[in-house]
Amino acid sequence: MRVAVFSTKPYDRQYLSETNAAFGHELVYFEPKLDLTTAPLADGFPAVCVFVNDKLDRDLLAHLAAAGTRLVALRCAGFNNIDLVAAGELGIDVVRVPAYSPHAVAEFTVALLLALDRRIPRAWARVRDNNFSLDGLIGSDLFGKTVGVVGTGRIGGLVARCLKLGFGCRVLAFDQWHDPALVEIGIEYRPLAEVLVEADILTLHCPLTPETHHLVNAATIEKARPGFMLVNTSRGALIDAEALVEGLKSGKVGGVALDVYEQEADLFFEDLSNEIIQDDVFQRLLTFPNVLVTGHQAFLTADALRAISETTLHNIAAAEKGEVLENIVVAESVSAAPRDNPQGGK
Ligand code: NAD
Repeated sequence: MRVAVFSTKPYDRQYLSETNAAFGHELVYFEPKLDLTTAPLADGFPAVCVFVNDKLDRDLLAHLAAAGTRLVALRCAGFNNIDLVAAGELGIDVVRVPAYSPHAVAEFTVALLLALDRRIPRAWARVRDNNFSLDGLIGSDLFGKTVGVVGTGRIGGLVARCLKLGFGCRVLAFDQWHDPALVEIGIEYRPLAEVLVEADILTLHCPLTPETHHLVNAATIEKARPGFMLVNTSRGALIDAEALVEGLKSGKVGGVALDVYEQEADLFFEDLSNEIIQDDVFQRLLTFPNVLVTGHQAFLTADALRAISETTLHNIAAAEKGEVLENIVVAESVSAAPRDNPQGGK
């Protein structure tokens, strides 16, 4: 199939092209994001392929549909960036990559937590400057600490397992669906309010939905354990960043590691080192010594890029052949999607 592939970086093109040798699609790569100004590039393409920060609202989907597009292939698991109701009404199928490597994201989450807690970026910056002072680098043992995991699907389940079995943490979890395999190893499901009160470390792994938007806000920060550490590798809008800044200023929040940020679409994946960043909240976050931010990198392993390419090209091939689309997302499946792999950890 002819596919207009948006938001592509060299690494995307490399893995998609290598994998496409077995599929034979005609992939036309575009570096820019897909929006109303770049949408004409996709005119006449039956399929477009997009990534996390391509926002496909009704207007954009209407343009695509009018220009002949019938398939949107997401190269990601989350589908909060697409208006599924509009896509359905316009006759556009939407497919995604439900699981490419939950290990990539789970391992990165633990790496961020350790780097934050043990001040590794600060330590490395000092050592490179021949400053071997340890002042200000005191961390804490993870062993015995209480970790709250919000969302225990594929990624959250692996994080919970790793922190419980690997580090000896006490793990409390919040999810509407309780994974019996996690309960079996001693992970305790609790209401969110209890998790908040007890957690020394809170890590977010639920999808972004209207229900989870700003799940961490001024009120939840107020209820949380003073000095708690927060890790978010899921979606930026799970956190109210302005409330987070206030929480950091007051000391209520003891440390933050983020791989995602609500307004990241204006920042991430680009070299902006010569630009004046206009997002004051983001810039303020970067000034705290106890904040660590990466630019939506948790998925970025060779294994994950291979798996993303394989599933995306398979999804497109299935659509071309008129087969059942196993990775289709439709508006009604938004609430059902989290249970689509009840075993987690795939
Ligand atoms: P998943 O669907 O396997 O698991 C999500 C879990 O969240 C499910 O168990 C579900 O029941 C639970 N959940 C849903 N609503 C909830 C709520 N209101 N409160 C608590 N739990 C809730 O998804 P996954 O593969 O584990 O991915 C989790 C998230 O990670 C994705 O939604 C995506 O946004 C994010 N992600 C980020 C990156 C990255 O590079 N940073 C990469 C992949 C995925």
